Amino acid sequence: MPQTCVVCRLPEREAIDRALVGGEPVRAVASRYVTERGRPISHMAVYRHKDECLPATLVKAQEAAEVANADTLLAQVRTLQARALGILDTAEGTGQLMAALGAIREARGCLELLGKLMGELDERPVVNVTLSAEWHQVRGVLLATLQPYPDARAAVAGALVTLESRNG
Ligand SMILES: [Zn+2]
Repeated sequence: MPQTCVVCRLPEREAIDRALVGGEPVRAVASRYVTERGRPISHMAVYRHKDECLPATLVKAQEAAEVANADTLLAQVRTLQARALGILDTAEGTGQLMAALGAIREARGCLELLGKLMGELDERPVVNVTLSAEWHQVRGVLLATLQPYPDARAAVAGALVTLESRNG
């Protein structure tokens, strides 16, 4: 926004922007406010502000809303992931192998989703889930859970190695 814009400098700027976005006539908006020095605001100044400053503000607001939305998504996926890990603990504690495997799958799905979401937020390439601390936790619990089943454990360990080498 231009430093010279008198409307941008007003403390009521947000209210003015809302009124303009809401379709209130420029003259009506201008007549309700005064400059920092208590002078009337010309409607031309409000026109200029609407033309030159408002679009950028709207773009920023849209971006902020998207980031906030993505943050909410992130929080939800984290909650799901925490629940999956909790179920995994319980399943492991009670020796329920199939339930443990299901929980691991869920936790892994959450991790991948988290990685994608964070990758998009950061505009960096997708996070490699197999490098994350949570992945190592899941991996450790998985292999520990499979301790009584050597064949299954060896098969899963082999699959994990393949997966991890594919992910770098
Ligand atoms: Zn302005």
